[in-house]
Amino acid sequence: MAARVMTVTGPVPPDRIGFTLPHEHTGVRLWGAPAREDYWELRKDEDLLAEELADFRRRGGSCLVDLTTDEIGRDPRWLRRLASRTGVFIVMGSGWYRQLHYPPDSVDRRTVDELAGIIVREFEEGVAPTGVRPGIIGEIGTDKWWVSAQEERVFRAAARAGRRTGLAVSTHALASDVGLAQLEVLTDEGLDPARVVVGHADTYPDLDYHLAVLARGASVQFDTLGTPEAARREPRAVALIVELLERGYASQILLSHDVCHDDHLRANGGNGYGYLAQHFLPALRTAAVAEGEIRQMTVENPRRILTIG
Ligand SMILES: [Zn+2]
Repeated sequence: MAARVMTVTGPVPPDRIGFTLPHEHTGVRLWGAPAREDYWELRKDEDLLAEELADFRRRGGSCLVDLTTDEIGRDPRWLRRLASRTGVFIVMGSGWYRQLHYPPDSVDRRTVDELAGIIVREFEEGVAPTGVRPGIIGEIGTDKWWVSAQEERVFRAAARAGRRTGLAVSTHALASDVGLAQLEVLTDEGLDPARVVVGHADTYPDLDYHLAVLARGASVQFDTLGTPEAARREPRAVALIVELLERGYASQILLSHDVCHDDHLRANGGNGYGYLAQHFLPALRTAAVAEGEIRQMTVENPRRILTIG
């Protein structure tokens, strides 16, 4: 099969995929977000979201990866409508988010191979009854700074499904070095680390952690850029990216915003999907990051991660 990126409106030749946001959401509902409000939502207001995505497109945006999984509000028809309406390529995720949000009968009652089979079937046949196919596995993650027993099973399933489909795996690894433990499980199943993106790496801006992930061949993703929580970390993020680039890791760094709450939208006073283009990339340029490196991180790296076949 020819190389392609699987978008919600069908396969696309990789060279048509330009500036890409590899970790975003366009609609999320979740309960029990620890240390925050008990209820967390990015409402699916179509006119509003279409305008926010149009802003991304006006700033040179081409493709957005929506990593919302089924149990926190994934809606294939919604994604297909948004893509058709805005002209932004949208890639949908697959899998299970993290243990706190696993539905009671989804992960615990199935074998690892059964879980893998669900992802593989979605990839081969599309999500019933919509036919919309995922183009990446994720976001899958861990609640804490370790991988729980149930989460380990999801990671093993993701790795097996990744090997069978060619899909990359994108993770949620928050505020700790847990990305290394996640990577360990994935590679233990034989998944090529080059097909793994360790997410939220900017929430743990520790040089040794980033170097350890990169040395194993996986990518680190700075993906909370522009959210209020990230503002105070931003100078550290810029300095860390510059350091990693100087050490030759330009091909293993990805950038995104993780828009996942109403407050993150421009219409509600947030930075929306345009922060990278409008603010963060200019900050990198000020720090003497070269144009070719910016293109590598925002176009070529996500394109390579999303390319299958
Ligand atoms: Zn996310």
